[in-house]
Amino acid sequence: MQAIEFDVVVVGCGIAGLSAAITAQQNGARVAVLERAPQDERGGNTRYTESFWRMKSEDAVSDDFEDRFAANAGGWPDPGVLRDAVRDRENQPRVLRALGLADPHLIATIAEEAPKALKWLKEFGVKFDFLPLYFLSQSTTRMGPIGGGLALIEALGAYADDRPDDIAIFYETAARGLIHNDEGAIIGIRAVGPGNKPMEIRGRSVILASGGFEGNQEMLSHYMGPQAQFIRPVARGGHYNRGEGVAMALEAGAASCGDYGSFHAQPVDPRSTDIEPVVLNYSYGILVNDAGQRFTDEAPGMVDATYEAVARIIMGQRHGIAYAVFDAGLDDVENWPVTVRSRIPPLEAGSLDELAGLMEVDARDFSATVEAYNQACPVEEKFDPLRTDGLATTGLALRKSHWARPIVRPPFKAWPMICANCFTFGGVKIDERARVINAEGDAIPGLYAAGEVAGIYYRVYTGATSVMRGAVTGRLAGEDAARRRNSREEQR
Ligand SMILES: Cc1cc2nc3c(=O)[nH]c(=O)nc-3n(C[C@H](O)[C@H](O)[C@H](O)COP(=O)(O)OP(=O)(O)OC[C@H]3O[C@@H](n4cnc5c(N)ncnc54)[C@H](O)[C@@H]3O)c2cc1C
Repeated sequence: MQAIEFDVVVVGCGIAGLSAAITAQQNGARVAVLERAPQDERGGNTRYTESFWRMKSEDAVSDDFEDRFAANAGGWPDPGVLRDAVRDRENQPRVLRALGLADPHLIATIAEEAPKALKWLKEFGVKFDFLPLYFLSQSTTRMGPIGGGLALIEALGAYADDRPDDIAIFYETAARGLIHNDEGAIIGIRAVGPGNKPMEIRGRSVILASGGFEGNQEMLSHYMGPQAQFIRPVARGGHYNRGEGVAMALEAGAASCGDYGSFHAQPVDPRSTDIEPVVLNYSYGILVNDAGQRFTDEAPGMVDATYEAVARIIMGQRHGIAYAVFDAGLDDVENWPVTVRSRIPPLEAGSLDELAGLMEVDARDFSATVEAYNQACPVEEKFDPLRTDGLATTGLALRKSHWARPIVRPPFKAWPMICANCFTFGGVKIDERARVINAEGDAIPGLYAAGEVAGIYYRVYTGATSVMRGAVTGRLAGEDAARRRNSREEQR
């Protein structure tokens, strides 16, 4: 078997992997990068993202950054445990160091390090700006690199390509297992190259940056149940992320972190082959399932803050599909086309019956649903598509909280919608140096995790924070791993 020796071995070539590899190299390490994809498709999810960063300027994250993480943490945690979780690490009970939660220490580190990571990326020629998004109005501030995630991969990839002796990238090579020594330190990776060729790459440290398990149907069903059969990655890059990084770390004793039963959900048009073909105009109409019934409040708040919950409810419908239904009033919403990224035209009909036929939904059940909804809409209209306008239905068990206007004027339109999986939340626990923490609260010597492998989200994704998580944790891991290569004590 082929066995090769480096200082640092990085698994994955997305924002987390490239940030880790280059930072390690800049700190003097010789680095190997394993990448499942061929070179022209390297970069996983990062390659396809627009890569918005939740920032109010290049120098600071958004004002709501840490509050949103706290609010989105979900569940009903023990307040005593939470109190201990915010204590400094030194005084934290060991059991809490291993606890799966949106760790306030790590979130604070990401907030502090994000501006530095952004400036570091600018050194590779990437420019950041406040770029247009597919929301008509937003509940927070977001910046992004011009050219999106692809620009990041191209800029960082070019730097690595120029230094093949220092950063060797093994394409079409998938990591399968960790190698450890008798003292519990991680000392390399077992992998498989093209033609099922086994290989071992040894290193003083391993950085797992191989994304989540959005491309692994078996893991999705295992953690999320049978409805997971109806979801698919929101873009092609997700198919490369099959969860080996997460599984290998758990196998090595890592503490789990992040919500294994959840993922960043997005409502998309299932007919479309576009990247991230979201349909985000639905809050101005109604949603029906394939039984012709409404099943959720279509407008609980601004769409950028609520679409994820709505997408998950669509996944829970009988066949995992819904239709966003409108009348001609949709055109009262200026610029609504920016909210739909599917380029496939909607189903369109002159009557509700005809539309039901196109949706393959029972026409009588559908008409009854629309009729009941129309009756519940307020008579006096103060429709304001850019704000939560309080135009709510009355008397329906399933209320629509805003923008409720009757569906009466032809032509009628419908977009089919399913729930797509942007990335999974389940990962492993890391500390502020991106070291993987074991289930007893101790760092596993030589093992780091960055990006999606490092779980931080619970139930609701705090939007526009995953690429920055990748850049920040990748850089932390790369720096620590390079430092470690010279430290005898930590090599044990
Ligand atoms: C369409 C889209 C839009 C998005 N929009 C945003 C946004 O605006 N803002 C935001 O913050 N986030 C966004 N995200 C999420 C964000 O892009 C990702 O979560 C982030 O880029 C993940 O970075 P990563 O480095 O952890 O993983 P990835 O970029 O997915 O990289 C993982 C790499 O590991 C490789 N790999 C996987 N398994 C193995 C293995 N066993 N061996 C070797 N290599 C392996 C893959 O081929 C891939 O190159 C979006 C995602 C998508 C798909």
